[in-house]
Amino acid sequence: MSHELHAKQGEIALAIKNILDSLGEESTRDGLKETPKRVAKSLIELTSGMTYTAEDIAADAIFDCDSDGLILQKNLEFYSLCEHHLLPFFGRVHFAYVPNKKIIGLSKVGRLIDIFAKRLQVQEKLTKEIITALDEVLRPRALAVIIEASHLCMMMRGVKKQGSTTLTAEYLGDFKTNHELRRELLDIIKQ
Ligand SMILES: [Zn+2]
Repeated sequence: MSHELHAKQGEIALAIKNILDSLGEESTRDGLKETPKRVAKSLIELTSGMTYTAEDIAADAIFDCDSDGLILQKNLEFYSLCEHHLLPFFGRVHFAYVPNKKIIGLSKVGRLIDIFAKRLQVQEKLTKEIITALDEVLRPRALAVIIEASHLCMMMRGVKKQGSTTLTAEYLGDFKTNHELRRELLDIIKQ
C-alpha cells in the first residue's frame, strides 16, 4: 500500500471511530474495534472508480465493425453509493446502440459502468456519465442507457417505499429523435 493510501485509510478510520462514539457506541468493544479500519478499506474500494477514466478501460476494447444493427445489453448489475446519505443504491443498467463503424467489447461495458458507479453518486448523474463516456469512445448512430435502481435511503428510512424502483434514461442520436425506434427498444428491454 502506498504511503498516501495508508494515511488516507488512517484518517477515515479515525473519523469512523468518532462516528461510532458519537452514536453512543463503545468503539473499543470487541465487535467494533476493527470496524473503523474495515469501513475505511471498504469506503476506499467503493469510491475507487474516481481513480480511473473511461479511456483507461476502453483503450484496448474498441474494435472496427461494419454492422449497423442494434446491439443491446440488458441487466448489467451495478452497486453505488448515494451522495446524499452514503447509503447504497443498486440495480441494473441496460444499454443499446447502433454502431457507426466501432463496437466495444461487451465484457468491458461492465467495467466502464463500475468506474462511474464506484463513486458517491446520484442515479441521474450516473446515467449521464455512462452515456457520455460510451458516446465519446463509440460515436454511435444511436445510444441509450437506462437504469433501474433501488435506493436504500428510500427503503430503510423516512417515508419507506419498499419495492419501488427508480428509472432513469438517457438517449442520443436516433434514439433521441426517432420515437418509434425508442419505443421498440423499451419493448425489447421489458421482455
Ligand atoms: Zn440517498
